[in-house]
Order: sequence, then structure tokens, then C-alpha cells
Amino acid sequence: FIKPFDKEPLILSIDVGTTSIRTMLFKKTSEVFKKTQINYTSNNKPDGISDLCGINDINNNIIYCLNDLFKNIDKTKFKVVSIGIANMRESLISWNSNTLTPSSQCILWNDTRNKNLIDNLKSKMSNEQLTYFKKHTGLNNLSTYFSAGKLRWLLDNDLKNVKLFNKKNEFIHVGTVDSWILTNFTKQKVFKTDLSNACRTGVFNLDTLQNDSNLFEVWDLNYNALYETKKIRFPEIVSSSEFYGHFDIPSHFKQLEIKIFLLSWLENVPIQGCLGDQSASLVGHLKFKPSEIKMTYGTGCFLLLNAGTERPIVGNCDNKLLTTIGYKFPFLDDGKLVYAIEGTIGQAGFLVNWLLNNVNLVKDIEDLTEILKIFNIKQDFNDIVFVPALTGLYAPYWDDNCRGAIFGIDGNTQQKDLVIGCLKGLALQVGIILEEMKKYVNGNKMDISIDGGLSQNDEFLKLQASLLLKNNFTLIRNINHEATSFGCAVASAFAYKNVNDRVMWKNIDDLKEKVSFYHESLNQGDSNVFICSDDIHKLNKEYRRWNSAVKR
Ligand code: ADP
Repeated sequence: FIKPFDKEPLILSIDVGTTSIRTMLFKKTSEVFKKTQINYTSNNKPDGISDLCGINDINNNIIYCLNDLFKNIDKTKFKVVSIGIANMRESLISWNSNTLTPSSQCILWNDTRNKNLIDNLKSKMSNEQLTYFKKHTGLNNLSTYFSAGKLRWLLDNDLKNVKLFNKKNEFIHVGTVDSWILTNFTKQKVFKTDLSNACRTGVFNLDTLQNDSNLFEVWDLNYNALYETKKIRFPEIVSSSEFYGHFDIPSHFKQLEIKIFLLSWLENVPIQGCLGDQSASLVGHLKFKPSEIKMTYGTGCFLLLNAGTERPIVGNCDNKLLTTIGYKFPFLDDGKLVYAIEGTIGQAGFLVNWLLNNVNLVKDIEDLTEILKIFNIKQDFNDIVFVPALTGLYAPYWDDNCRGAIFGIDGNTQQKDLVIGCLKGLALQVGIILEEMKKYVNGNKMDISIDGGLSQNDEFLKLQASLLLKNNFTLIRNINHEATSFGCAVASAFAYKNVNDRVMWKNIDDLKEKVSFYHESLNQGDSNVFICSDDIHKLNKEYRRWNSAVKR
């Protein structure tokens, strides 16, 4: 007979990303005990469409991932103590509150189908409204990126003819991916969203920490009408680390054997960590101190700076970088909300996929790596400037309408020059964002902790480092490749008020001590440290050319 606490505790994370769903089990050391992943294909169609057709696919894929995850694990030795969720932000879904049947597709964060609609709203917006929007959302301007514009589009399309059957308590629930998962996978069917997700909708006020009806109006949404006439409800906004509900399998899922198997592991396990993916990765990189930075090269590229517990005041409200919410762990330290400053680039890994699949400029990742390798050694490629704004130009420019452009092509330009130009474009935009971030950092030198698919490529990171100045920056690849998943696992571990109930880590110091990947500082010779350039003249030239290309 083995008592439950004789079993080794594990935390389960469920990460719903843009291109895949990943489930992982973490040990106290942060080691991934086991992981499973299912890639899905989002629809990328002309006219900026990027969606998932059946949002129940998200549920089914989570269940299949979990089913594989728990196969062949000895239940007498291990026990799952809590569950955390991380998700792509800004993507929007709507469903019937009673049946949980989707009333729309899931429009993904990078979808730009509503571009004309957003342009129209922007042109009608008064200066006062724009100032109010920037000041209270921390975002830059109306954009196809944020969820509220997606709702505006859904109201004119998928939701136009949706009729509820007038049952008394039947509503249309509209939420981001976290609230969809929480509703479907908790016994209590909770309808909640965490702060780090809520602050990306475009209707959330960073000062009141609630949705704001004035902000709804900016998007041509009338909160009262949505509430009364359309019977639309939005999720309750809660912290990133608290008890949301006990795990359950969505009722539409009918495969009994899998259901019984999963509940034998997860019934009554609390879901109690919830973070938007970039906030999760800030936590997963253990960037708990102000001025610490993480950078993730996933489909897009996301730089987040821990801005501390005081609401950051962004210079002249220019909002070149966004103010966002890092996390709120109510039971840790003073429990205060932690803000973050964010620089977003719409396309990073997206560019790799485009080079591979759309324009076929490289055969495979090996081919890409080889070109990067030759460039990193020789650097004597034909110089072109490529602004790879394939889905618009995000931070610090914020131009939804901008599209990719290549300058300097001549008769000698070859395929490899275009490949390098494209990835250099990404690296230069990173450099521009980091320069902006310096304004919010104490001290001169910034250590940047990196993760994400593209960061697995040493040659790309060498290219990135060659476009940053050594005196200012050091790039350190996190050896925990799963920072996003780990971050939501950490959130769930700290959701206990009583320290004695925390079986994984008692506090942040304890966490840093136990995890295998944390280093206060790494040696320069380490294979995960990428030394930046000291050639200031070359850098000045590169950035001058980039700035001029962006202007054009
Ligand atoms: P997301 O979480 O947004 O789905 P990931 O962090 O999984 O993204 O990164 C996936 C992206 O990284 C893909 O676009 C893929 O092409 C790119 N990628 C993965 N491995 C490599 C590699 N070794 N070299 C270059 N790009 C890579």
C-alpha cells in the first residue's frame, strides 16, 4: 500500500499554441518528465484569414495529447498535484453557454480579415478617444491583432443570425482560448479569464483592471446592447494563480475508454494556473525581477520586460511598446500584479515556414541552417534590405497595412541573399525593439533570455547576435526549452495560500534553487550564450538602411 504523498508529485501543463497543442508533466527540478504534442493546421487563406475551423478540435486534441501523455506511466509512483494552462492570446471564440456548442470559428490572433473594418474605425476615432485608448489599454492603437476587433467582425458575420432559444439562462459566451479551455475542462464549467489574457482584448482598462464600456465604444461595440439584446457575456476576470475548478472531460467527448483512463489520473485535480503564453514564458524563464527580459521566437517573436508592480508610465503615451500584464500570483510574496512592457513582431517562425513552404527558397531546415552558417562565416552576401512585414508591421511601428518589401535587388541577387535578408529583417526589428526597451531598464547592460522554435537554431542566434551591440546586450538561450509550459505549471504550484500546502516549491527562492536550468550568470564560453557584435560602424549602417527601408 502506497500513501498518496509517497508518490512523486508532478504538475501538468496544457499549452494551446498557434501551431500545436502540447501537454507536459514537470518534476520539481523543472525537468520535463514526459511531453506530448499534436500539431494542427490552422487555415491560412487569402484575405488575411487565419482560423481554426472546429474549435472542438482544440478539445479533442488536448484529450488525445493527454491520453498519450499518461500512457505507460506508473500510477503507483506518480501523482498529478495541479494543472496549469497557457494559451495563445487574442484569439477569439464564441459559444452557447449551456451546450458549449461553438457559435463561431476560432479567429486566430494573427488573422487580418477585418483590416478594412479596423481602418474605418481608426479613421472615425477622435483624438480624445485615441488618447483614452492608449492611456488605459497600454496598447498602441486599434489593430486587427486585438480580440475586440475580431468580435466586431463576428457580430457582422458568424454571430449575425445566431438565435438563442430563449431559455432563461442561455447566453452567448465570448472569450479567449483560456476561457474556452477552462469552461470545457472544469467540472464547474467556470467562465473565467486571467488578467494576462484579459489585457489583450482591447476593451480592458489597465487602471481599473476591468472591462471598460468606453473602450467597447471605440471598437463600435455597445456593451449594453451586447448584454441585453445579443445576450452576450464576457468571462469574469481573475488572477493567474488560483483555484478555477476541478479537471473534467468535456461532455461532447464520447470515447468512454479514454475518458475513464484520463479521469483515473486527473479527476479532482485542480486547474489553478492560467496565463497567456507570453506571460507564461516570462514566468517560465523565472524573470520575476524588474528589468529582466525574455524573448520567444515562436510563430511570432515576443519580447517581454518585467516592469515591476507599479503601473509603468509610457513616455508621451507613444506606446511604441505595449504595456501588458505579466502575471498576478495573489498568494506569492505581496501578491501584487506584475506589469510587463512588450515588443511584438508578427512573424518569426512564420518567416521560416514561408521560406520553406510558400516561396520554396529553402528545401528544409538543414538547408536554411547551411545558408545561415555560410553567411555567419563569410558575411559577404549581396546586401539587400528585406522588411518581412508579411502580416503587417507590429512593434514599434504598428502598421497593419504595411506588407513585405525588398530593397536593393540587382542582377547578382541570389536565392540565399533573399533568405538571409528575410531573417536579418527579423533580427533588425528585434534590435529596434530592444533599443526602445532600454528606456525602461535600470542600468545599461541587458541579458536577454531566449526560447521558442527558431531559437533552437544556433546559426540564426549567431546572426541575431551579430546585429546587436556587445556593450549593451547578451543573448542567453534558456536550456529549458519549455518555458511557456513551465510558466503555467509554476503559476499552478503557487496557487495555495498556505505555504505548507505547496508540495512543489515554497517560494521563488526555493523554485530557483530546485530547478535545473536556472543560472544567475552563464559563462561566455557556454554554448547557450551568444556574444553580440562590437562593430558599431557596421551596426550603424545596418540600422540606417533598415530605418530608411521601413520609412519607404
Ligand atoms: P508556436 O509556439 O508559436 O507554435 P514554436 O515555438 O513551436 O511556435 O516555433 C515554431 C516555429 O519555429 C516554426 O515556424 C518553425 O518553422 C520554427 N523552427 C523550429 N525549429 C527550427 C529550427 N531548427 N530552425 C529554424 N526554425 C525553426
